[in-house]
Amino acid sequence: MRIQAFVTSARLNLATMETVILHSCCAPCSAAVLEWMLAHDIRPVVFYFNPNIFPQAEYEKRKNELTAHCQKLGVEVVDGDWDHNVWLDAVKGLENEPERGRRCTVCFSVRLRAAAKLAHDRGITRFTTTLASSRWKNLDQVNAAGREAAAQYDNVQYWDKNWRKDGLQDRRNALLKFYGFYNQTWCGCEFSYRDAQKRAAEIASRISAQSNKTSI
Ligand code: SF4
Repeated sequence: MRIQAFVTSARLNLATMETVILHSCCAPCSAAVLEWMLAHDIRPVVFYFNPNIFPQAEYEKRKNELTAHCQKLGVEVVDGDWDHNVWLDAVKGLENEPERGRRCTVCFSVRLRAAAKLAHDRGITRFTTTLASSRWKNLDQVNAAGREAAAQYDNVQYWDKNWRKDGLQDRRNALLKFYGFYNQTWCGCEFSYRDAQKRAAEIASRISAQSNKTSI
């Protein structure tokens, strides 16, 4: 796919655009969404609130990459707190749930409740999330958490646009390569890291068993 010049907010009339809170998890999941918003008269305010990410060095790495990307676009970033212990308390008892299970429901809820609160505090009507752009996530689960978060406030709506449609999935992959974003190998928390390591070990052991068979 040919990469066109990226739309930057410097060329846009920000005063006439609708402002939307975009909860963002990382640069790879955000780039195509940001591009789409800026091209459709929407002014995103990026909210980086992901206390689930562990360890802190990984959290900073993802945050810094996203922040640098937004700075290039002239997009505001609101830096949420990294309070991993509060997040751990929220998912207590769910440590051994599989990805897309009950732990992820709570995790989405923690993050999207904060996004809804930011929208409310700033008088911004709509918020959405890049969690909905990742094919690794259950879209219904993300949207349910978004709606539940919005229901806390009378003046806030969750925007449940499917950020994988309208060519955005391909665009996401193209921009990931174009910008050379850091390619994370686990969702975020230590439990997803543990499970990713386990999957990698199982694949390595299957490949090794297969090559031993073919060499006999
Ligand atoms: S696997 Fe991902 S979505 Fe699920 S709890 Fe961990 S960080 Fe959150």
